[in-house]
Amino acid sequence: MDLWFEEFQTNDMVISCRVLRTLHQEKTPFQNLAVIETVEFGRMLVLDNVIQTTVKDEFVYHEMITHVALNTHAKPEKVLVIGGGDGGAVREIVKHRSVEEVVHCEIDGAVIEASKKYLPEISCALDNHKVKIVVDDGIKYVRNNKKSFDIIIIDSTDPVGPAEGLFSAAFYQDIFDSLRDDGMFVAQTESPFFNGSLIRRINKDVSGIFPLTRLFLGNIPTYPGGLWTFTMGSKKYDPLDVDITKIKEMETKYYCPAVHQSCFVLPPFVKTLLD
Ligand code: SAM
Repeated sequence: MDLWFEEFQTNDMVISCRVLRTLHQEKTPFQNLAVIETVEFGRMLVLDNVIQTTVKDEFVYHEMITHVALNTHAKPEKVLVIGGGDGGAVREIVKHRSVEEVVHCEIDGAVIEASKKYLPEISCALDNHKVKIVVDDGIKYVRNNKKSFDIIIIDSTDPVGPAEGLFSAAFYQDIFDSLRDDGMFVAQTESPFFNGSLIRRINKDVSGIFPLTRLFLGNIPTYPGGLWTFTMGSKKYDPLDVDITKIKEMETKYYCPAVHQSCFVLPPFVKTLLD
């Protein structure tokens, strides 16, 4: 008998993947966690029945949420990742030689442990000597660490449960205060097809706090609609001013100098969200 995993990506739309086996399932203090092996996308991390990452398409999200900012900042040394318990963002960040320390603040230690065990190709840098893991609420962490970071990456779940506050104006103000004077942040900000009003509100909030706000896009097959947004707030550097001929070569599968520029080209229906 065929076994299928189903995620209701909206109330009226389902993504369904054929499952080979369930590798892990547990109820943590924060969420239901599962790692399943699918035919199409390989191993998949699922939280509260929502796909977080898969071995097949994770590279798009993890490269885009990190390299755009790390190649925009003049010398990123200290980076904070909030969420991202699978370790994919951390793996990309430590590819940058200027980075001296990555603080990884994930609220749910069980996500880190399951990723280490079942998703080694994604979590492989979590034991890197530059990485300091803090199991705590990212909202609390930024409130207590002012002017500490060059870059902050908000690699969160959807804006419900413990991640809800990671999409609030008050949190963006705390992020501003946690960044050094030339710092910047990038957050995953959901689907332009299904979360337009959220994206519009985030853009307004971030623009009211940071001198520069930029929205950019990536294509992630397992996320609702495929097309995904990332929002950057920056105190000084503009990703569009980067001389892309000077971006250092590194092993990536989606991000490259041309994509650094093209990801800021917004189709009109996305652009109107920023008006
Ligand atoms: N790429 C994914 C997506 O958009 O579906 C996100 C992946 S990552 C696994 C998201 C992580 O954020 C989860 O492990 C969750 O536990 C963590 N998280 C949620 N709220 C948090 C908070 N307030 N502080 C720190 N981590 C949080």
